[in-house]
Amino acid sequence: MASRFLARQSRSKVLTLRDVPPMVSFTFDDVPASACELGAHILEQQGARGTFFVAGSGCGTAGPGGPPRATIDQLRTAWANGHEIGCHTYSHPAIRYMSLEELGWEIERNRAVLKTISGDIVVQNFAYPYGDLSIRTKRYLEGRFESCRSGHAGINSGTADLGALDAWPLQNVSIDHAKIVELIAETVQTRGWLIFYSHDVAEPPSRHGVSPDLLEWAVGTATRSGCALTTVAESLDVIRDRAASK
Ligand SMILES: [Zn+2]
Repeated sequence: MASRFLARQSRSKVLTLRDVPPMVSFTFDDVPASACELGAHILEQQGARGTFFVAGSGCGTAGPGGPPRATIDQLRTAWANGHEIGCHTYSHPAIRYMSLEELGWEIERNRAVLKTISGDIVVQNFAYPYGDLSIRTKRYLEGRFESCRSGHAGINSGTADLGALDAWPLQNVSIDHAKIVELIAETVQTRGWLIFYSHDVAEPPSRHGVSPDLLEWAVGTATRSGCALTTVAESLDVIRDRAASK
């Protein structure tokens, strides 16, 4: 934990959020087939798109004790419908103690898998498996991606640390309607950027997942509160555009 704490204190790639609208991003890790199909559909019905952080070794597999993972075909459909595909390493290791050579292999191997979705795909953003990071791996990854999302619970406001963006788990076991309302209200008030992350979208969801009802309700609440619903890549575009227009 100390290592993660120090890594978060060490901010070398920071963007200032200036005159940006409040933004909410819905992201899904690993990625279960249910997120890629039902999750994507729920977002699309409300005019939104999500970011799917894929660990390529799991594509089309049953997942170790978990829900079945999306196939390349399912990911291609989501991508063609405007959702973003991000990197979550190839084999989903805890990376803190990994050599940079091994980490580089994880990134390149995953990039090769994601290229099979489409030759046109551009993978810009990363999410740390298990939220596990160190200063060394953070430096390495923030140099290779536009942004890296951590598992540290918080709202990005004032500034955003692109090497370890804060995010909030959208999982039935750990969040309720009142907390979602509170987080979105704070995002509006601080003109911040709230990133939700989840896994499967199912009834009942797994310990790491969200039910379709709760996801739909969270998307609706964010929309009605006047937040822009953006993918991670879109949020970064908005933040940079506003900064450049000053
Ligand atoms: Zn993961």
